[in-house]
Amino acid sequence: MPKLPRIHALSTGTMTSALDGFLQGEEGDITYQVPIFVLEHDKGLVLVDTGLHPELATDTSRLGALEAMFQPNLADGSGSVGPTLEAAGFDPAQVTHLLLTHLHFDHAGGMVEIPNARVTVQTDEWAGLSDETMVAFGIYNPADCDLGHERNEVEGDHDVFGDGTITCLKTPGHTAGHQSVRVQTEDGTFVLCGDCCYLRRTLDDEHLPSFSFDAEKQLASIRRLKGEQANGATLIFGHDPEQWANIVADGLHTGV
Ligand SMILES: [Zn+2]
Repeated sequence: MPKLPRIHALSTGTMTSALDGFLQGEEGDITYQVPIFVLEHDKGLVLVDTGLHPELATDTSRLGALEAMFQPNLADGSGSVGPTLEAAGFDPAQVTHLLLTHLHFDHAGGMVEIPNARVTVQTDEWAGLSDETMVAFGIYNPADCDLGHERNEVEGDHDVFGDGTITCLKTPGHTAGHQSVRVQTEDGTFVLCGDCCYLRRTLDDEHLPSFSFDAEKQLASIRRLKGEQANGATLIFGHDPEQWANIVADGLHTGV
């Protein structure tokens, strides 16, 4: 039995956008955290996602056409992934494995501050960086992602250390190659859903966002995550403000 990893949930600022983008047809805006997760494993220091690019603290022009849709709120010099890890006692240069749920700017934007990690990403997600239409619209930004990291492209589920403790679960639909991450801990099994499932309501009501790469696949992936929950896993939603408040108050324990 391997020693089980510990999870640290950290936030790299907040964002505000239209609620319709999370729950199709709903009015108003929603403000939410931009989470990253550190997984301490015997064989490596693992990071899931990297949050926002540090430049977004002062200049949002790198968002391109998305600039009008998302308002990032990031502390200048201290809010991005590098300083956030340091404040929590981790050296960004010591991160060995970077698991990217997907390559949108609020998940892959901080890669520049994680210089030495080997990046694990689904093959069909990385391919999005070569899609001229997606890049032109700002959905994917090679300037955020394509920085020369060693890359482990995977297709489908992937057991990171071969011991069952940290597993990438392919959950496509939000993007072509979205993946979630299942982690076995002393406090039980957690699944970091990423943007397959923004909110608890997304899961419970199967209420999809107004935009996705493939809505049918996303629904199938949400149902896969429901199956993980039925098997006893605690799901950590991608951007759920209510759940995040509980995580910050209590840490990651079962019953979040
Ligand atoms: Zn997101």
